[in-house]
Amino acid sequence: MEEAEVLVVGGGPAGSTAARGLAERGHDVLVLEEHARIGLPVQCAGLVSQRVLDLAASTSFVRTSVRGATVFGPSLGCVAFKAAEPRAFVIDRSGLDIYLADRAARSGARFRTATRFDGIVSRGPERTVVRATGADGTSLEIGAKLVVGADGVSSAVARAFRLRRPVEILPAFEAEFPKSPGDAEQVEVYLGRTFAPGLFGWWIPDGAGGARVGVAADADGTSARVYFDHLVDYLAKRFGERLANPTAYLVSGIPIGTVPKTHGPGVLLVGDAAAQVKPLSGGGIFAGMRCAEILSDVAHDALARNDLSEAALAEYDRRWHAELGEEFRRALYLRRLFARLSDPDLDGIIAALQGAELTETIVAFGDIDFPTHVARRLLRQSPSLVRLLPKALGAWWSSEPSFPTPDLDEGPRK
Ligand SMILES: Cc1cc2nc3c(=O)[nH]c(=O)nc-3n(C[C@H](O)[C@H](O)[C@H](O)COP(=O)(O)OP(=O)(O)OC[C@H]3O[C@@H](n4cnc5c(N)ncnc54)[C@H](O)[C@@H]3O)c2cc1C
Repeated sequence: MEEAEVLVVGGGPAGSTAARGLAERGHDVLVLEEHARIGLPVQCAGLVSQRVLDLAASTSFVRTSVRGATVFGPSLGCVAFKAAEPRAFVIDRSGLDIYLADRAARSGARFRTATRFDGIVSRGPERTVVRATGADGTSLEIGAKLVVGADGVSSAVARAFRLRRPVEILPAFEAEFPKSPGDAEQVEVYLGRTFAPGLFGWWIPDGAGGARVGVAADADGTSARVYFDHLVDYLAKRFGERLANPTAYLVSGIPIGTVPKTHGPGVLLVGDAAAQVKPLSGGGIFAGMRCAEILSDVAHDALARNDLSEAALAEYDRRWHAELGEEFRRALYLRRLFARLSDPDLDGIIAALQGAELTETIVAFGDIDFPTHVARRLLRQSPSLVRLLPKALGAWWSSEPSFPTPDLDEGPRK
């Protein structure tokens, strides 16, 4: 039987970041990845903030930067904002995963690819034995003091350890087009029931003359592919030409919601497995990587004390909630309201945002990792925006006069 002090299931950004953090502190870490190659298949649009580059301590996987966005309403009215400097980065997502896995391996983490975690064989206070299936289909058992579930949206680890995940999974469909017209410094976002009820459609320049086009929408019985086809048809009309044949398709899901407990005795969840995903955009790379750093701090202390009890590991939930929980809660609430808005409401919001003052606020304070900061600022600034939203939003806004975010009132975004 193979042994490891820490078994990380999943070699995505969250798993590799956790593996590196623990291996660097001298722990024996084994990463299981079900796919034969790290980073493939790609299941992401690859739009990230500077924080992700900082967490990775590299820009090697950056394809291009974007300075703003144009947001289209259901009737195709739009509001555009563009900053003087880069506001987000379009990355080679597979390149990021490979880079992070390599960094973890250089720190001493072992990787076993083409190996799938299947379930638990036995579980005691000091050690868990899990069952996995290797590349040739053979079954193997692995013993570990701590199991980290970084196995993405449908986390088998969460299921096996009975950590409840009452999350909504939004179906997503994306394609990569090798050539596309459009502004190479701007992303496009499409709102409304015909484009993507519940979330949005996107057009993202890829830095090489092409674009990533996709949708993520409520699971309302219509397949995300149908919304995707509609968006591609619309883009053909707008650009006056059909986009060239796609070179890759991506079908996946985005977990939106709150996992009540992301720890248990001898187990921690991180990344999409823990639904550490921004509810307003579905982006999860930043939160997953940051929470993986917190996880390695907490797990290191627990391993050093040889105490992997539920009480000891609860510190992980406390710490990541202290840093990101408030933003997630507010964003989740806003998303629920957003999902209820009718198309005329959304058109009204786009029209209300068209004023120069509000676009300046978006440019100054927009932050893709903390979107509720700018949302709250806009609501304070524009009574007409508040009037357009359901009463509940007004209640949310007025119930918390002192919004405790450090950079909200301290001047423009740095
Ligand atoms: C269409 C789409 C577009 C997106 N665009 C963006 C974006 O622009 N920006 C952004 O920040 N986020 C985006 N996201 C979200 C982002 O992709 C995820 O939040 C991120 O990948 C989560 O990282 P992770 O390491 O938690 O999980 P993952 O990246 O999903 O990694 C989990 C790993 O675990 C492996 N695994 C799963 N089950 C097992 C098992 N049983 N045994 C072994 N290995 C297993 C998987 O193969 C995978 O490699 C997008 C998501 C989708 C679906």
